[in-house]
Amino acid sequence: MPTTDAVVIGSGPNGLVAANLLADAGWDVLVLEEQPWLGGAVNSAADVRDGWIHDTCSSFYPLAAASPVIESLQLEHHGLEWVNAPAIVGNPLLSGDWAVLHRDRDDTAASLDALCPGDGDAWLAQCRLWDRLGEQLVGAITSPFPPVRAGLGLAARAPFNGGLAFVRQLLLPARQLGEEAFRGEAPRLLLAGNAAHADIGMESPGSGFMGWLLIMLGQHVGFPVPKGGAAELRRALVRRFEAAGGQTRRRTPVVEVIVSGGRASAVRTGDGEVIEARRAVLADVSAPALYGGLVSWEHLPTKLRRRMDGFEWDPGTIKVDWALSGPIPWAPAPPVAPGTVHLIDSVDALSLAEAQMASGRIPDRGIMLLGQMATTDPTRAPAGAESLWAYTHVPHGALRGEVSDPEVEAMADRMEARIEEHAPGFRDRILNRRILSPDELESRNANLVGGSINGGTAKPQQELIFRPVPGLGRAETPVRGLFLASAAAHPGGGVHGACGSNAARAALAHDRIRLRRSR
Ligand SMILES: Cc1cc2nc3c(=O)[nH]c(=O)nc-3n(C[C@H](O)[C@H](O)[C@H](O)COP(=O)(O)OP(=O)(O)OC[C@H]3O[C@@H](n4cnc5c(N)ncnc54)[C@H](O)[C@@H]3O)c2cc1C
Repeated sequence: MPTTDAVVIGSGPNGLVAANLLADAGWDVLVLEEQPWLGGAVNSAADVRDGWIHDTCSSFYPLAAASPVIESLQLEHHGLEWVNAPAIVGNPLLSGDWAVLHRDRDDTAASLDALCPGDGDAWLAQCRLWDRLGEQLVGAITSPFPPVRAGLGLAARAPFNGGLAFVRQLLLPARQLGEEAFRGEAPRLLLAGNAAHADIGMESPGSGFMGWLLIMLGQHVGFPVPKGGAAELRRALVRRFEAAGGQTRRRTPVVEVIVSGGRASAVRTGDGEVIEARRAVLADVSAPALYGGLVSWEHLPTKLRRRMDGFEWDPGTIKVDWALSGPIPWAPAPPVAPGTVHLIDSVDALSLAEAQMASGRIPDRGIMLLGQMATTDPTRAPAGAESLWAYTHVPHGALRGEVSDPEVEAMADRMEARIEEHAPGFRDRILNRRILSPDELESRNANLVGGSINGGTAKPQQELIFRPVPGLGRAETPVRGLFLASAAAHPGGGVHGACGSNAARAALAHDRIRLRRSR
């Protein structure tokens, strides 16, 4: 029987971060990946049109750029080069202006002030708050729960930086935070659009924090992308791992975690091979795929089964990629070209879309997120051309079907029409399009169940000590030697590597205790 110190199931960014940290500690590590490619939702290829590089899933990496975990891996030494767009985020306004998050905070403030006097100072006040508390906040989010060291740092600084008022700000719904902090529409939409990256309602606590975190990250580290495509981030992680002695195997689904004496001792692959894991198994898979799937219920507490009944997926996603002959003909054009564009009519429109989602309907005018990738990184398309994607959310379970399904095609047509409203002539520039329906996303990555991109809802009731279910807020699982390393674990979705790092750190700590006990 082949044997190794640790098996990592799945090669998403969390799996690869975990594998790197274990290999750094001198462990023999084998990563098993179901798909023919490594990287999970961090990938890109010239598969929409020759000469155009499209990211298959994730594209912009503010969380990676700010993550102490990713920084510690020094991926720049393994070929990774970050680039930022001329402007970070833009949202066309119904007035004909643009809300723009510029690279420089003074430029953002000046442009917001020109639209509504006073908003420039209000923006700079938020930036100063971030200067004083942002690093501790990111440290606290990316540490295992409870975040003792970073949490203490935050607790020590908060009283001198607003104290309870700051804590209250973190809890505010995005609508209320926008209305309290700013007077004009533009910064409110920047906040709301970034909040809408997660599935927390505009009227619900938690959405303000999500929006604030992303706009402040955007202002301080940008929304960088790997030069050459998202796959360059994955390549750097794999290169680093292999240089440390790690091994990867593709086209190798794991179908069972073998549990002996209450401990994860091995995994079984799709073709029946059993691979022994002497020290740990780390699962970069979804929570429902692990509990009652790879690990059968007989090895798990009954109460976990009950709690998994309450597990909530985040909404489904439909993504469309276009190879364009030229840039999007925005009319009017933004003052500086943003890499990320949000199409939102108003905060009210987002609230209405959320109500439609909650009642199981596909929203008429929910948020559309766009990535102008050649604007951001000119290596993504031939000179003068654009590599574009857009996605929007649908209720989980909606819009199931092949990419050629008329309902799926009609949704992609509607997305094109939304862009055309702001950019007449957009359709004339389309050379090719690819639709990634919720089912298509799932067929490319088993973690993206029904097109969910976040490993489960980001609502407060499924975060922190409640992620993925109450009582399992850390990477440890009820099975000894088995750790949940995916976005299903705290702190959830996004490419920050923290879930993988937490799982690796837990595996190393438990192994140390085990060794001490066996002496
Ligand atoms: C369309 C889309 C856009 C996104 N945009 C962004 C963005 O711009 N910025 C950002 O920060 N985040 C973004 N995200 C979210 C981010 O990509 C994910 O949160 C992140 O990739 C999660 O990493 P992971 O390692 O937990 O899982 P994944 O990246 O999902 O990887 C899981 C891996 O495990 C493999 N696997 C699953 N089951 C098995 C099994 N049984 N055996 C073997 N292998 C298995 C899968 O094939 C996959 O390779 C986006 C996600 C999607 C889908």
